[in-house]
Amino acid sequence: MSRPVNFYAGPSMIPVDVLESLAADMVDYRGTGLSLVEVSHRGPVYDEVHNEAIRLIRELMGVPEGYSILFIGGGATLQFSMMPMNLLRPGESADYVHSGAWAKKAIAEARKVGTVNVLWDGADSDYMSLPDPSTVRPSEGSSYVHITSNETIGGVQWKAFPDTGDVPMVADMSSDILSRPVDVSRFGLIYAGAQKNLGPSGVTVVIIRDDLLERSSDELGAYLSYAVHAKGNSLYNTPPVFPIWAMKTVLEGVKKRGGAEAVARDNTAKAAELYRAIDSSDGFYRCPVDPAFRSEMNIVWRLKDEAKEAAFVKEAAAAGLMGLKGHRSVGGCRASLYNAMTLDGVKQLTAFMDDFAKKNG
Ligand code: PMP
Repeated sequence: MSRPVNFYAGPSMIPVDVLESLAADMVDYRGTGLSLVEVSHRGPVYDEVHNEAIRLIRELMGVPEGYSILFIGGGATLQFSMMPMNLLRPGESADYVHSGAWAKKAIAEARKVGTVNVLWDGADSDYMSLPDPSTVRPSEGSSYVHITSNETIGGVQWKAFPDTGDVPMVADMSSDILSRPVDVSRFGLIYAGAQKNLGPSGVTVVIIRDDLLERSSDELGAYLSYAVHAKGNSLYNTPPVFPIWAMKTVLEGVKKRGGAEAVARDNTAKAAELYRAIDSSDGFYRCPVDPAFRSEMNIVWRLKDEAKEAAFVKEAAAAGLMGLKGHRSVGGCRASLYNAMTLDGVKQLTAFMDDFAKKNG
């Protein structure tokens, strides 16, 4: 079966061997006679999958001792609210870097919980750049500093992270988690929806330094409390068992590929191939992002003649290159090159782009 090349931003490409493995195990999970999605989440069959998914995240991301790994529903959107509900201490404020569309949403939700300081705002560059990390300093009385490691819509990505000292740094890594090695010990909390690099939608991974669990007030609703999820090993209530099972299967594949370093090497090569095609097109294509912060995950570009963008996206789809339309809020084109994308897939895109430029230039 020949499948289209999948550049969707999320939900997004999942390695086909993962899909096949899930399909093969779906009706009769490994000889147990029942599907994993129809048995108790407190039985031994699911328990093994759940704990192995946690163990693989710990191993592949190098999560140190003293951090808990939680699986929560509600997407990264719930974390925009839940994280400040837990971490923002009474009488203190929260620092945010406003790097684009997703940071903006995180800030809007935090403002419903307490006082927010915007440490840096990318409006001047139309959110096509990021601050020098060394200039990002927590303000007086700050409970945490929040960054968005990769802006999925804008296509900007932090290459190095701020040093926030004793104030915990919190990162929304939804669109670049496990795409490169990251020193988790520099963060107080990391959250990411699974539907880009980790599997299907439905589960959000939260990695939290254990001392921060003490900030969860007993007044919070049970599901909204990190401490409740941590105490129950993310089994306080029924977890999203299918997305967790699928995520575990994706993680096994990442391990086989050689882990975060190997994946990062591939990601750098894939992104370089696409940026090369954009930059060498004599202005037919143009990437608006500051070269110092160009994302390796979500690559955005415009056509010199913006009126041809719709035709570009349509003809690409007809050629089996799916999901290249930019986000509805910004237009243009975007290719998401998550971990599952191959260099060959990107080369099919760049060959199409060269050809389209020749025909329409
Ligand atoms: N943060 C980032 C960086 C995202 O890319 C997204 C989704 N594309 C979200 C947050 C929101 O995630 P969800 O739809 O899972 O709530």
